[in-house]
Amino acid sequence: DTKDFDEEVESVCPYCGVGCQLSFKVKDGKIKYVDGINGPANENRLCVKGRFGFDYIAHPHRLTKPLIRRDDAPAKGLNVDPANIHTHFREATWDEALDAAANGMKGRGREIAGFGSAKCSNEEAYLFQKIIRQGFGHNNVDHCTRLCHASSVAALLENVGSGAVTATFNEIENADVAIVIGANPTENHPVAATYFKQFTKRGGKLIVMDPRGQGLKRHASHMLQFKPGADVSMLNAIMHVIVDEGLYDQQYIEAFTENWPAMKAHLADFPPEKMAEICGIDADTLRDVARTFAGAKAAMIFWGMGVSQHIHGTDNSRCLISLALMTGQVGRPGTGLHPLRGQNNVQGASDAGLIPMFLPDYKDVTDDGVRSAFTDVWKSGDFSNQKGLTVVEIMHAIHDGDIKGMYILGENPAMSDPDVQHARDALAMLDHLVVQDIFLTETANYADVILPSSAWPEKTGTVTNTNRQVQMGRPAVPPPGDAKEDWWIEVELAKRLGLDWDYTHPSQIFAEMKLNMGSLDNITWERLEQTAVTYPSLSPEDPGQPIVFGDGFPRPEGRARFTPANVIPPDEVPDAEYPHVLITGRQLEHWHTGSMTRRASVLDAVEPEANCSLHPRTLRDLGVKAGDYVRLTTRRGSITIMARADRAVAEGNVFVPFAYVEAAANILTNPSLDPYGKIPEFKFSAVRIEAA
Ligand code: SF4
Repeated sequence: DTKDFDEEVESVCPYCGVGCQLSFKVKDGKIKYVDGINGPANENRLCVKGRFGFDYIAHPHRLTKPLIRRDDAPAKGLNVDPANIHTHFREATWDEALDAAANGMKGRGREIAGFGSAKCSNEEAYLFQKIIRQGFGHNNVDHCTRLCHASSVAALLENVGSGAVTATFNEIENADVAIVIGANPTENHPVAATYFKQFTKRGGKLIVMDPRGQGLKRHASHMLQFKPGADVSMLNAIMHVIVDEGLYDQQYIEAFTENWPAMKAHLADFPPEKMAEICGIDADTLRDVARTFAGAKAAMIFWGMGVSQHIHGTDNSRCLISLALMTGQVGRPGTGLHPLRGQNNVQGASDAGLIPMFLPDYKDVTDDGVRSAFTDVWKSGDFSNQKGLTVVEIMHAIHDGDIKGMYILGENPAMSDPDVQHARDALAMLDHLVVQDIFLTETANYADVILPSSAWPEKTGTVTNTNRQVQMGRPAVPPPGDAKEDWWIEVELAKRLGLDWDYTHPSQIFAEMKLNMGSLDNITWERLEQTAVTYPSLSPEDPGQPIVFGDGFPRPEGRARFTPANVIPPDEVPDAEYPHVLITGRQLEHWHTGSMTRRASVLDAVEPEANCSLHPRTLRDLGVKAGDYVRLTTRRGSITIMARADRAVAEGNVFVPFAYVEAAANILTNPSLDPYGKIPEFKFSAVRIEAA
């Protein structure tokens, strides 16, 4: 026997929304390495994060004991040394810590808010929203979707009646044209990017639209490096051409849509010649792209945070939906709308109701019948019919004195919120903060009670990827020390809040979720133990529907809607004091706020230092060289960071990953919100760049 492991455990990657299935190879109680296996999304492929990003779970910084803030701890701030946390916290038993966590929140109703996590399972997300709604009687519960695709979901729910993708990304193999806009899959959804590249090798035309000339550029038939924030002008111009030249699908529009006359009239104001200056793409290119997309037999549209993270993020998605509808590119093989989900379970956590305006399956909290369907199952009294506060709104409510306590599970707002000093100040103002996490995150620095929890390779639970594929996660190793699975902690906390919860296994939670979630019809725990299932699944044998809405939409009369969008400038346009443009995002090796990947040895070795990217001519104009340090300043604050030369970044722009606490990009970002999705404008801030 040449095996170099004792056990193989099949599970799902903890990082991006692609949801690659993998096998943990375990020897002597430790994960030795990881292989890709044949999951529906990845077909044995993995990227660098999935393959090498697993050893964070054994990092010495792991929390292994419940912790309570010491009476003599220094004032709350970002001031705890993760290697010496005992200056601020003392170890406690689970009983003591859970009692302290619950006693500080019990009976305080609207003074308490919750952030759950897309890093947790569906069952854990469901329990989290239930704790806030059942335990505190209101809907102030949210998670990272608010910083991610909330605006895309708002537009999709409004116009096609469902917030999920209409087709899996793998459907690109049946397309002949695809648009990728405001997404950088080569770095952020690398396995999905391999399918996109294969598509171009077969002759598919890939239209890439992005203010950065990113990795897919080499494979693109058209690269539209448009001005940041100019999405609507560019997309309206493309749709104008489709109308002007009669390239739309009249039959499809008549059969499956509404509001076309208004849309058609609206687009008359956006000729390419007029929009070219605004979006920075010449009229001939806009016309060529319009003809290429409208002439496709089957076309798909993929988008990411570059579309969603704007004050007009919902408008951006409305345009993409309209483009697909007017050309009839939904509901058939090789067609569809696909917002690429960022985190491994952001689709599932949203489906599970971790949202202030929706219960599980996007059911409206303001609907009395909907709420009573849940309280019947929960055997509890009613909760508020008011939509709750969102992520950024909760931080404002803390400053206003309306929220005084929080329960935060697996989220890191002290790094991820826009204008992050405002969020850090808010966390310091709370009189009771309970943080449940695997590391002493920047947010946990401000905690009163810390509950040590489980990493993804240590737990049982289901997750739902960007493709609507529900998959089973399995534990390869136990949590370290006294750390516990998150669902267990939630149950024990709920009991101390007076809730009658008696779950002893995640399968019981999943069974309860199914009672009010039609999306899970025909999907059972037992099936998921055998195989992934895509929702909707039409029968106990149906592996699920990769393409939906071929015969109409879940809207009145089965019709999708055209919602026109106007050109709205970014909230903060460059001026003499702040003449440049800041764009934030992720990079291949690091994941979100860096709490996991900066503790993964290989990933941290590849990218150990905070860095930003600028065009070589911008560096030259500043009088600095690649590798030198620059100072970035916005109306919110300043950071000093190492500069890299990158021709993909337009002149005068700077791109900053948000994973690095020592040069936190969100010190700089603008907290202004999209009015519909309530998502901040991470993709555009006016900034001044100087040599440091
Ligand atoms: Fe994990 Fe995403 Fe990479 Fe797949 S593509 S291995 S899910 S990070």
